[in-house]
Amino acid sequence: MTAKRLLILDDDPMTGQTIQRIAEFAGVDVRFTLEPGEFFKLFDTWQPTHIALDLVMPEMDGVQVMGRLAGLNCQAKIIITSGVGGRILDAAGRSAAEHGLNIVGVLAKPFSPANLRELLIDDSDSPQPSPQPPGPSPRLPFQPAPLTAEDIELALLQQEFQVVYQPKVACKNGALAGFEALVRWHHPSRGIISPMDFIPLAERLGFIDDITEQVINHALGLMAILGLGEGFCSGVELPPDIRSDLKLAINISAKTISNVSLFDHIAQNCGDFGIDPHQFIFELTETSAMDDPVASLDLLTRLRIQGFHLSIDDFGTGFSSMLQLVRLPFSEIKVDKSFVMTAMQSQESRTVVKFIVDLGHSLGLTCTAEGVEDAKTLLYLKEVGCDLAQGYHIARPMTVEAIKTWVAQQNFRESL
Ligand code: C2E
Ligand code: CA
Ligand code: CA
Repeated sequence: MTAKRLLILDDDPMTGQTIQRIAEFAGVDVRFTLEPGEFFKLFDTWQPTHIALDLVMPEMDGVQVMGRLAGLNCQAKIIITSGVGGRILDAAGRSAAEHGLNIVGVLAKPFSPANLRELLIDDSDSPQPSPQPPGPSPRLPFQPAPLTAEDIELALLQQEFQVVYQPKVACKNGALAGFEALVRWHHPSRGIISPMDFIPLAERLGFIDDITEQVINHALGLMAILGLGEGFCSGVELPPDIRSDLKLAINISAKTISNVSLFDHIAQNCGDFGIDPHQFIFELTETSAMDDPVASLDLLTRLRIQGFHLSIDDFGTGFSSMLQLVRLPFSEIKVDKSFVMTAMQSQESRTVVKFIVDLGHSLGLTCTAEGVEDAKTLLYLKEVGCDLAQGYHIARPMTVEAIKTWVAQQNFRESL
């Protein structure tokens, strides 16, 4: 039995037959049709493991076909074939992925037999997913009860919110520049809950400031260990010039911007512990800076006057980026990880990254790229002059204990 069944939909017979021949030569069972109706019939009865799909067709375009395939719970591996430009292919790929389809690659026409064989054969050793007959979707796994206000209240009391820290380093020489504090909820029965799954809820229920306060207190503890501030007993040896420039970034929600007393409290803590406010960065997302434009401008300006740094997070994802960037007194711009993570595959992403770096620099801001997952991306960031990098390639977010070990392993001389 042939494990692979490729179904081709293309309105151009020449292209379809070429794909068919190449695939058959590679030992794949193939059906080819010019027509969407026939395609869906074969999809149902023949259950292909692979689909080669043309994007531009007169009757029903490739994006419509993918939408319908998603509705049919299609598990087949999809190869998009098209003569349209890279930008449109990229968008189509993203749209398919958002529909939950399994896109294995894109074949820009004209393509070589080797290109197609690669996409078909690359996964030959991995087990094939059993084709799923279309029909009702499988039963959903057990869903725990939604989190409630009481759950969060209890978690605050029991100190279930824990903080991990992700290093930020200079792109040019890898020198340590600081850390971003990221909260996690260690729930006694549900395990570790991601901030994405509870921060929006905590914002809605009015607990976000309490969480932020716990995060800041925890971060002050790390600063003590790193020897920042006066009279702290340092647990870690850091060269003085690195230590004095080290910055700790805290994520601040929209709701918190109006809480003047929380920021007064932080300023007081800095005074009490002898920490220079310039060692704190408050990261705001574009939407969080937007909620109450006048109040946020006042508070943020005050914070900058006191010496705190302000960062505009996830830059490039919101609609009002430019307005916020120009209006509010930011000192750092963070390129959203969606562009950084795809920079090596997409010319568009590289254009956006470079544009944001240049824009940030023209406004006198430090530029940080987050989501740096490999060495090539880091090299690219260095080439375009991005200042700082953060991401799994450098280090994952770590507990304070792991940070101590990580810092101890750094060769600071090399980076100076
Ligand atoms: P963010 O502020 O954009 O934080 C960066 C996120 O990217 C973190 O996810 C981090 O773990 C992840 N990340 C870092 N490097 C990489 C990489 O190379 N690849 C990939 N795929 N991801 C990477 P995390 O920790 O799950 O946090 C998610 C979001 O939750 C944060 O996004 C932030 O918006 C929010 N958040 C986290 N902690 C807090 C907090 O204390 N307060 C508030 N208000 N929001 C927080
Ligand atoms: Ca952030
Ligand atoms: Ca971000």
